Amino acid sequence: MCLAWALDAYERVETVGFDYGQRHAIEMDCRQRIRSEIARSFPVWAPRLGPDHVLDVASFGAISDTALTSDAEIEMLASGLPSTFVPGRNLVFFTYAAALGYRRGLHVLVGGMCETDYSGYPDCRDATLRALEQAIRLGTEIPFSIETPLMWRTKAETWALAQELGGEALVDLMIEETHTCYRGERGLRHEWGYGCGQCPACELRAKGFAAWRASSAEGRKLASTNLPRGA
Ligand code: ZN
Repeated sequence: MCLAWALDAYERVETVGFDYGQRHAIEMDCRQRIRSEIARSFPVWAPRLGPDHVLDVASFGAISDTALTSDAEIEMLASGLPSTFVPGRNLVFFTYAAALGYRRGLHVLVGGMCETDYSGYPDCRDATLRALEQAIRLGTEIPFSIETPLMWRTKAETWALAQELGGEALVDLMIEETHTCYRGERGLRHEWGYGCGQCPACELRAKGFAAWRASSAEGRKLASTNLPRGA
């Protein structure tokens, strides 16, 4: 979603993925398909899409023993966070991305963090990322900015954004190719995409999709009642 947003907003976009010993490689596989499908389906965006980078941060995964990096059960902990919480993950990722951006001459970092309907991860919050942006600027003497287009959008509004940026083609691409399920389930296809349907990430995605479908159906109904008679 953020890749589409960035391609719409900027002339040159490169992508970066992080290999930190995740329990499944599904998200890493999805990245390549999303890149090629976006380039194939949106000729206006294709020339803007530059190279992909994959950074190996396995040592980070090794020190954070969580349900995303081990076989531990995915559950809610006493802290109120799911056991999938990897402490400080986004701090590390953006710092690596900034070092890469510094070298590549790219000074806008775009991420899909959201604190509207999310799992409560403190490193996804706007205040955290504004502080990190400031630290990166001070630490590099480059006016980096961290853009998080999904921060204040509900999951329903994120689906609406896909529709707005790329119409049904982008909505379909999001359904078919993007992945959020913590368990890495790609066998079960729901109307909102693939996933186990049970984990916190699937629940948020399914709920947001249903809310967006309901509101866009409502919008269509309103639009048709507003049509002049005899039109
Ligand atoms: Zn799931």
